[in-house]
Amino acid sequence: MTSLRLSSLLSGSFSAASSTAATSLFSLGRNSNRGRGVSRFSTAAALEVPITPSVQINHTKLLINGQFVDSASGKTFPTLDPRTGDVIAHVSEGDAEDINRAVAAARKAFDEGPWPKMTAYERSRIISRFADLIEKHNDEIAALETWDNGKPYEQAAKIEVPMLTRLMRYYAGWADKIHGLTVPADGPYHVQTLHEPIGVAGQIIPWNFPLLMYAWKVGPALACANTVVMKTAEQTPLSALYVSNLLHEAGLPPGVLNVVSGYGPTAGAALASHMDVEKIAFTGSTETGKIISELAAKSNLKPVTLELGGKSAFIVCEDADIDQAVELAHFALFFNQGQCCCAGSRTFVHERVYDEFVEKAKARAMKRVIGDPFKSGVEQGPQIDSEQFEKILKYIRSGIESGATLETGGERVGTKGFYIQPTVFSNVQDGMKIATEEIFGPVQSILKFKNLDEVIKRANTSPYGLAAGVFTKDIGTANNLMRALRVGTVWINCFDTFDAAIPFGGYKMSGHGREKGIYSLNNYLQVKAVVSPVDNAAWL
Ligand code: ADP
Repeated sequence: MTSLRLSSLLSGSFSAASSTAATSLFSLGRNSNRGRGVSRFSTAAALEVPITPSVQINHTKLLINGQFVDSASGKTFPTLDPRTGDVIAHVSEGDAEDINRAVAAARKAFDEGPWPKMTAYERSRIISRFADLIEKHNDEIAALETWDNGKPYEQAAKIEVPMLTRLMRYYAGWADKIHGLTVPADGPYHVQTLHEPIGVAGQIIPWNFPLLMYAWKVGPALACANTVVMKTAEQTPLSALYVSNLLHEAGLPPGVLNVVSGYGPTAGAALASHMDVEKIAFTGSTETGKIISELAAKSNLKPVTLELGGKSAFIVCEDADIDQAVELAHFALFFNQGQCCCAGSRTFVHERVYDEFVEKAKARAMKRVIGDPFKSGVEQGPQIDSEQFEKILKYIRSGIESGATLETGGERVGTKGFYIQPTVFSNVQDGMKIATEEIFGPVQSILKFKNLDEVIKRANTSPYGLAAGVFTKDIGTANNLMRALRVGTVWINCFDTFDAAIPFGGYKMSGHGREKGIYSLNNYLQVKAVVSPVDNAAWL
């Protein structure tokens, strides 16, 4: 399997055959920590002078019918650099009128072609050429993503953009392998199924992994011959515009993919409630997921795929190798500044190894390298914006007030931008807000457990059910936990192992539907049954 194993950046178990890019990031991260003896505060001064990204911003307008155009209202909104809060660019602000224009273009492209009428092989070739162009522009795309989002450049350049390329190749591969069945009916009938595209798909994506969320949605929609209107997150509009331009360079006909930048309650809501949109796929908060479901139901009952919040348990059993478990639990929570829906944000540790684990988790967090995300060796950049920054600091105050022990961190870093110290709480109790609500930041909550039945029950009390991590050497324990946990993904002795072929999605209030893998195609296909008598005379 050629999965890009993010967790192996930390476990060191990466094989060179899997991804040379990720392997080198692992060694870069290790060398920089070792060489500099970095403490978490040592980089604060360096944050004052941000590194200038070496990428040009060419596209800030809406992409409708293959053209970059101003919004109907002529309005723009600023997209900000999370390192400083300064404006990077002013981007056209789409609203309901622009969604109408984009949906009309997508509708025409679907109804009149050529996209759904092309051969599947031709569609596959276009998606495949798109993947080649992404690969060619890997570093510029990564720089744009880091600038707009604040994630470490090495993470973007060596993991996320290569993953985008990989996902597009995966879906290019699917495009000409989608077909129906011949069905053995009980009678003199020839019965077959056609697997057809749904039509115009609306897609609303978040800001934490803008390009991966783009790929998870655009890939299967196009492979199944749908047309698309995408609403990007208002915090991170730039990378989708950049890569969508490449998709047109690869030969995508006008109107097949339209990208509208703008805000949720205006552009997003107009898309979810549009009568000509026949499917909605959304990734974001559970709260917004409910709104989108309601808008879809109240308009034309369009089917909805939702990938929502999480409060994933990371369970460290008493037989675990503690050093490895500490490293992996650290990664599971702090990766991407803690801004992952599947972050291992409830670290359950067996009571026999609890104290040792807490000491080591604290030491590891104190070594975490915070800094300008463009700087080599930096593990943690700024949070996305002031709203998330304030929200995380509020959760930290709530953790202290509710009686959890603040082992390290808890404050901002520097005076500009949205940097927060890696924060570790021990003695966290189940009812505390930091143990129940999604923080979406660099805050690790460590809870103590006594036995497996108890930890299963506690892990499953969360209304969320996105993912879980299990750390044990015992196959029986792993199997027991794996079956009992009510979540969409269980990682055993690994975490955040993502691959184009591995399905991802939630149980309970973490959403429904699966993205990636063969299951993702179901979201973008209708099944038509076609029945005809084997012998016409027999029916008459
Ligand atoms: P977050 O709180 O992390 O920003 P959201 O769920 O609010 O997460 O945002 C995810 C995506 O949903 C973004 O593209 C955002 O613009 C969009 N969105 C937010 N509110 C609405 C809404 N009422 N209707 C449709 N889309 C929305």
